[in-house]
Amino acid sequence: MSEDNFQAHEIRDVIKIQYKYTMGGQSKFFIELKENKKLLGTKCTNCGKTWMPPRINCSECYEPAEWVEMKQTGTIKVSTIVWYTTSAFIQSVPYGIAFIQLDNADTGLLQGIFSENLVPSKIKKGERVKAVFKRREDREGKMTDFFFVPEDEYEMWISKPEYEGSA
Ligand SMILES: [Zn+2]
Repeated sequence: MSEDNFQAHEIRDVIKIQYKYTMGGQSKFFIELKENKKLLGTKCTNCGKTWMPPRINCSECYEPAEWVEMKQTGTIKVSTIVWYTTSAFIQSVPYGIAFIQLDNADTGLLQGIFSENLVPSKIKKGERVKAVFKRREDREGKMTDFFFVPEDEYEMWISKPEYEGSA
């Protein structure tokens, strides 16, 4: 039989894979987020720089950092509005995304911003934002357990049945 006559037989099928992965040394951040609505960063034991998102060792001097509770208010450093994204978030578009410097942090955290008035004049550098959390039964110990809203919309967002402020 010559190659010209070769015909591959193809079958469509589905592979499902269940897996788990560890957050390793950063697990405490996700556990406190899920259980207690706390946002934990780390503070370098040598130079005092406060990292958020947390780093187990300081990225500047490489010394160990220790856990510290972060403020849940902060300021937008850089932002944009998202109009297209992956299937996991497509139902939420449009939404904002920003590097947010929490009030006692030295670094920026990349996180989503929701607003009733999602316009570039409101979601921009210098605007004040505050963290809103999913309800306990909906929190999974993931970054999607919380998001930020403009500070003047905070009370409105936490009055929705699906969301909570921090205790
Ligand atoms: Zn350091």
